[in-house]
Amino acid sequence: MNEDNPNRDTIFALSSGRLPAAIGVVRISGPRARHALEALARRVPEPRRAGLARVRDPESGEPIDEALALWFPGPNSETGEDVAELQLHGGPAVVAAVLRALSRMEGLRLAEPGEFTRRAFEAGHLDLTAVEGLADLVGAETEAQRRQAYRQLKGLLGSRAETWRKQLIEALALVEARIDFSDEADVPEDLVGPALAVARGLRDEIADALAGAARGERLREGLVVAIAGPPNAGKSTLLNRMARREAAIVSPIPGTTRDVIEVHLDIGGYPVTVLDTAGIRDSVDPVEQEGVRRARQRASEADLVLWVTDAATAGIGTDAAPEGGVGAGLGGSQAVWTIRNKIDLLPGEHKKQSYICKNESISSNITLDISASTGQGLDSFFSYLGRHLASYFGSEPALVSRERHRKALENTVASLDRALGESADGREDIIAEELRAAANSLGRLLGRVDVEDVLDAIFRDFCIGK
Ligand code: GDP
Repeated sequence: MNEDNPNRDTIFALSSGRLPAAIGVVRISGPRARHALEALARRVPEPRRAGLARVRDPESGEPIDEALALWFPGPNSETGEDVAELQLHGGPAVVAAVLRALSRMEGLRLAEPGEFTRRAFEAGHLDLTAVEGLADLVGAETEAQRRQAYRQLKGLLGSRAETWRKQLIEALALVEARIDFSDEADVPEDLVGPALAVARGLRDEIADALAGAARGERLREGLVVAIAGPPNAGKSTLLNRMARREAAIVSPIPGTTRDVIEVHLDIGGYPVTVLDTAGIRDSVDPVEQEGVRRARQRASEADLVLWVTDAATAGIGTDAAPEGGVGAGLGGSQAVWTIRNKIDLLPGEHKKQSYICKNESISSNITLDISASTGQGLDSFFSYLGRHLASYFGSEPALVSRERHRKALENTVASLDRALGESADGREDIIAEELRAAANSLGRLLGRVDVEDVLDAIFRDFCIGK
């Protein structure tokens, strides 16, 4: 957009991670990037070739560090502008001295979060779905997330949406030609029919893509598994086992109530959010009641419920998981696995027993015997969980991984349905209007039109220097 504007601020930031580190990468982008590099390093290396540079304070001339310098002249750089990069020794004082020197230069300022990427977007190097893919790639905690994010960055959704949008615009042009030149003899009568045929094909294709949306969104956020069951059945012990065994606890989610403990696990490359609903109990304290309500709500929305019972005190058939999931009246159609825990306490002949209700698929309801404290049965439990995850996420990547994508595609389908539906009744003006709306929804998805409101929200999630 305005990447050629010579008055545009030149931005800089530390683009690498926390200091101290072996290397600290400082990036500079904008019309004064070359000037800044010359001031610091006195020379500019060949484009895209690393050169050794003594970095000096431009005012005092005092050496700060010896670094690798890189020079990427625009427009074929990441941001589309002139970009300079210094790979410094990653000491806090080294990096601070360089950032201080840069901030004293006229026309330069520290970048805002995501501002480098925003400039790449504005230069047309990335569409908005690719920007989101980049954010997801940086944030990916598991293999499956990384794979989905990388595909998103490389245009998995973006290039499909771009093709759909072009086809829609062509269809729209046909209808508009019919409207604009309807009196002229040499305009063919039937332009609308072919346009609607295109619309119908696109409608089905986009609806297909939407079918995998839940999967894609879950892959970003993690499949939600709730551990529930009567008090003292061993829920917390099982959660600890899962957390210790499969992965580090990645990040506690802020804002959860004290009644639900939530941990993020990486199980076989798939992200899983485990909720321990041990805190679900009846209470008279209104604050606690609110916590309980939220805990129930969260558990009722889980994809899989592990209903833990105490095998030593409960016979088969008692303490059964409630029909329809742990929502206990809140409904929900989840898979519920019954986990009979504490089998180490059972008399000898029952101990090794581990039975699965045959002829039931893994995704539905099964029963597993374990001992969370001795570890018996856990191998089998984790193997079932791994298979459940693999079958849930499937091998085909989902096109849609965010609510924003889903909403945009749902709007597109709704517009196409109206163009094709009875209410349009073949009226060219209505059809044109709806095709335009459908193309606009795709344009918003790609960030081509009318997106100022979502841009800030998307780039805010980036770190400074990205
Ligand atoms: P929760 O209330 O369901 O979260 O249950 P806890 O995980 O706090 O466990 C309740 C008690 O049962 C604790 O004393 C645990 O040590 C014990 N426990 C949990 N799992 C087992 C098990 O597999 N075998 C035995 N013998 N004890 C267990």
